[in-house]
Amino acid sequence: MSAEQSREIVNKFNQPAWPFQKMVAMVTGGGRGIGRAIVEELFQKGYSVIIADYSIDAAAEEFVAELNKQSITPEHRFVKCEKLDVTDGAAAVALVEKIIAEHGQLDVLVNNAGVTKDGLLMRMSEADWDFVIDTNLKGVYNVTKAAIRPMMSQKRGKIINIASVVALTGNPGQANYCASKAGVIGFTKSIAKEIAVRGITVNAVAPGFIETDMTRKLSDTQREAMLALVPLKRAGQPEDIARVVSFLASPSADYVTGQTLVVDGGMAM
Ligand code: NDP
Repeated sequence: MSAEQSREIVNKFNQPAWPFQKMVAMVTGGGRGIGRAIVEELFQKGYSVIIADYSIDAAAEEFVAELNKQSITPEHRFVKCEKLDVTDGAAAVALVEKIIAEHGQLDVLVNNAGVTKDGLLMRMSEADWDFVIDTNLKGVYNVTKAAIRPMMSQKRGKIINIASVVALTGNPGQANYCASKAGVIGFTKSIAKEIAVRGITVNAVAPGFIETDMTRKLSDTQREAMLALVPLKRAGQPEDIARVVSFLASPSADYVTGQTLVVDGGMAM
């Protein structure tokens, strides 16, 4: 193979998927952790990405500025931060309306924002139960309900909900979290059936043990116990999840809906 041919192949694989077609994605909780990796992956694939996050700190602003420097078509491909508390349904509607008014379309929604408030059920307060269910489950309802309006008019859209492998296995000390994430999987299947006819797919990704601020809270003993269950013998990285989300958002996954893709190094086989 000539140098020219190999350069052509390398260029082909490094191209964003849709370099000249505007594609707009919204990622909740995109300022850090798994959400941030999803934002970067979608941006590198050619999407414009709106980060909808509870708080936007200096690190998130810097991350956005760095990505925007890489855009040669800022009107078609950009990253933006917007404040959103996913537990506020009216704010979710207002943000989606703003995105449509400013950018004319919403092609992909990634419901990634999530929280934990662990404790054994005997000691779990109602406030801790409500906090996790309101953010992880009602938040998905709020933002999805807002986003499907424009997607239904467009007759296209991809919704990807970040669940968790513990929704399938259960986990002591996480009754609120496991219930919220199992709810997300049931929600995903139901909405997938409701809106498939409008050309919208709805899928979930169930991560295993991924290294982020959320899992850095665990003790060394908890961490070792988790890792002992992973056949691939390593913790997942946010990028492991981001690549799968990007697949589900792409035309390669046009015939996939209502599914939960487990990305856990084999932990829950
Ligand atoms: P992080 O704690 O690192 O990040 C969570 C993100 O969600 C933050 O940006 C946070 O915003 C945002 N967020 C929290 N509450 C709200 C809210 N009410 N409105 C808007 N944004 C909010 O978590 P991870 O990156 O680890 O987790 C991302 C998703 O993946 C979650 O849904 C989590 O449950 C799921 N998951 C994670 C696993 C892991 O091992 N890490 C395993 C399985 C699932 P702010 O910075 O302002 O607090």
